[in-house]
Amino acid sequence: MFNLILFGPPGAGKGTQAIKIAEKFGWKHVSTGDILRAEVSQGTPLGLKVKSVMEAGHLVSDELLIEIMESVFVKNNAVNGFVLDGFPRTLKQAQELDGMLHKLGHAVTMVLALEVNEEELVKRLLKRAQEQGRLDDTEDVVKNRLVQYHHHTKPLIDYYKEKKLYQEVYGVGSIEDIFSQLCSVIKT
Ligand code: AMP
Repeated sequence: MFNLILFGPPGAGKGTQAIKIAEKFGWKHVSTGDILRAEVSQGTPLGLKVKSVMEAGHLVSDELLIEIMESVFVKNNAVNGFVLDGFPRTLKQAQELDGMLHKLGHAVTMVLALEVNEEELVKRLLKRAQEQGRLDDTEDVVKNRLVQYHHHTKPLIDYYKEKKLYQEVYGVGSIEDIFSQLCSVIKT
């Protein structure tokens, strides 16, 4: 089973590229942001719990994310690969992911990061806020999301570099160019 983590800050284009990669290789795309947004829009107990946290641009608790991912792995036990988009986002989540995959007899195969400069990220996130009306993409929240990334998520780069799983692709350019660069480093 190929377990790809598509890594990068908010606004790097993970969602767009994850969908394309999943389609090309026949893998299951898992976006924890999409899962959480669906819970919020359906007004489930989980959705009610995380709504204000997401709207503020903070991270939802590790415990909830780990519960969500455990159920994703249980429900999709027959797939031949995953593209994880937006998970893990903390060291604790990364360690728990290793444990979950280990229990299933698997491991993280590679971590592919989209590298985009901060100015471009802010521009993209604000544009998306206008186009999609995403409540978590207003200017203050955008800044908050980037702070959360630097503080909690960026340390994962070293975690995966040490495991020799980390690779970077430049994430500015056309969607198709970035996609073909990503595909060229995915060795199945
Ligand atoms: P995304 O669409 O991946 O940018 O996620 C949107 C929001 O969902 C984030 O700003 C967080 O509030 C929450 N979220 C998504 N994935 C995670 C995660 N792995 N850990 C904590 N919070 C998450």
